[in-house]
Amino acid sequence: MSKKEFKAESKRLLEMMINSIYTQREIFLRELISNASDAIDKIYYKALADEGLVFNKEDYYIKVTADKASRTLTISDTGIGMTQEELENNLGIIANSGSFAFKKDNEAKDGHNIIGQFGVGFYSAFMVAEDVTVISKALGSDQAYKWESQGADGYTIEPAEKETVGTDIILKIKESTEEDNYDEFLEEYRLKSIIKKYSDFIRFPIKMDITGS
Ligand code: ADP
Ligand code: MG
Repeated sequence: MSKKEFKAESKRLLEMMINSIYTQREIFLRELISNASDAIDKIYYKALADEGLVFNKEDYYIKVTADKASRTLTISDTGIGMTQEELENNLGIIANSGSFAFKKDNEAKDGHNIIGQFGVGFYSAFMVAEDVTVISKALGSDQAYKWESQGADGYTIEPAEKETVGTDIILKIKESTEEDNYDEFLEEYRLKSIIKKYSDFIRFPIKMDITGS
């Protein structure tokens, strides 16, 4: 399995985000939850148009799981999922390369707004994670796929096991250093407060499960 390079714009954007926008690291969770919510919305709208597809409200939710022992934070959704091709196209290339130009032109002072507005949300995970694994099974597909990346040097995609349609985003949270504390992103009270602050308006339930203290 060969490792593929990110497109140049993605690489620059990723480096910029990881290096310069660390004042508001906590917004990574807002970005991942909003993607999860978008993915459930997509099933919802599909069901409205397709009589063969029933949307049972209780089947659709977002789950945030922290495991302190393995230092993983997982954001799962029962949304529409991604095919192998979609993993490649949606996570391997930053669609709106205009966001980098915008940042350059404006000498932006407020980085986190740019991330929020210009749809580079997913990559904000690398502000807190040394490894990001995405396991996804698309609606209507039998095979799940795993996308994995340690950051700017690229990503891999391979077949994976996943029973149900949807996506798991698994973040291996960085080790804390003297300057930077990342442990907080495995703490229930902290995660709850971030969710309350940024994701209160999300229409689907957000469940939480903390283990391995
Ligand atoms: P945006 O949400 O603005 O499109 P992101 O960087 O946050 O940009 O996400 C890029 C794309 O990756 C999304 O548009 C979507 O197609 C796909 N994606 C990300 N997370 C998920 C998810 N949990 N389920 C399905 N697709 C996702
Ligand atoms: Mg997004």
